[in-house]
Amino acid sequence: MSEKIEILVLPGDGIGTEVVPVAVAVMRAAAARTGLQLAFSEALIGGTAIDRTGSPLPDETVERARRARAVLLGAVGGPKWDALPTRERPERGLLGLRAALGLFANLRPALLFAPLADASSLKPELVAGLDLLIVRELTGGIYFGEPRGIETVNNERRGFNTDVYTEHEIDRIARVAFDLARKRNHRLCSVDKANVLEVTQLWREVVTGVGADYPDVELSHMYVDNAGMQLVRAPKQFDVMVTGNLFGDILSDVAAMLTGSLGMLPSASLAADGAGLYEPVHGSAPDIAGQDKANPLATILSAAMLFRYSLDAPAAADAIEAAVDRVLEAGYRTGDILGSGDRTGLRLVGTREMGERVIEQLESAP
Ligand code: NAD
Repeated sequence: MSEKIEILVLPGDGIGTEVVPVAVAVMRAAAARTGLQLAFSEALIGGTAIDRTGSPLPDETVERARRARAVLLGAVGGPKWDALPTRERPERGLLGLRAALGLFANLRPALLFAPLADASSLKPELVAGLDLLIVRELTGGIYFGEPRGIETVNNERRGFNTDVYTEHEIDRIARVAFDLARKRNHRLCSVDKANVLEVTQLWREVVTGVGADYPDVELSHMYVDNAGMQLVRAPKQFDVMVTGNLFGDILSDVAAMLTGSLGMLPSASLAADGAGLYEPVHGSAPDIAGQDKANPLATILSAAMLFRYSLDAPAAADAIEAAVDRVLEAGYRTGDILGSGDRTGLRLVGTREMGERVIEQLESAP
């Protein structure tokens, strides 16, 4: 019998503990369909880890994450730990894990399922069928550049940061984006501000150079201000977008909102050695935690990305996404995607039932 693939599961806090078990059940069903042998184990992170061990990221969690093929995470944080100093808060656990695993590529898809086209702030015809992927560099740029600080010069305070990228940092994120474009529609748009910022002139040069290795991918460049406009004007023109840490932070949230709900947004973060962390974009939602109200689809779709990018099992990923589409088509909705308009044909379901419906669709698919 082939060896089992280890998946580390980190439910975390709040609704993380509700949505992650549902996503794991979906993963088991998808694995069974495709013959993959998965072994799940669970570890602590965030507030729950603070309560049990005193640290938001116990060493054991990092060691087990390093050994696993991939990590599926729920969410961290909550009011119980809000009074702690910044360095001791649950969110440090997540930042620490990203750093420990060297996750430099953040993948944020904006995928709009046709039955939810009305949930977008844009006209349905502009977004129906939207499927774009933003690749954001996660460990460099202005968020980490030195020098940084606030100092007093001539009796006046002055704040400063440094936007810096080396050639190899740009090269490796560009290659991730080109490889992804190759698996999709072979189009890549690199976003910069090369008319003003030297660091992004270098970005454009290096991305163009890497493009020579990918003659089958159509590369374009766009200034970030125009990219912001185009995302809300005609988002379906994009396939894959690649950009630095700061622009990626902003553009991925803009793109996310084109799809309507926080409860539908998955993400993946990848490292050079193949490690991958998969998590919904949303937080621990303390306002609805423990009430079986959370939408598990963002975590289920993150699990689909795990199959696609860490297990090289695109058929399982496609099967999960198709099952989600059919469940939505059949009218099942958690509260966050119920909408305020005409609800004819829609049925309100809880976290667990939403998961059961997805599994039902997975198992009945041909
Ligand atoms: P949040 O994403 O937890 O919630 C924002 C709003 O969206 C809430 O009204 C919530 O009920 C709703 N919501 C979020 N996910 C949902 C889902 N799956 N289904 C239905 N509704 C959903 O953001 P917040 O309220 O600003 O933060 C709450 C806590 O989560 C804080 O402690 C924050 O630091 C933490 N947080 C963690 C992460 C993470 O773990 N990656 C991300 C963001 C916030």
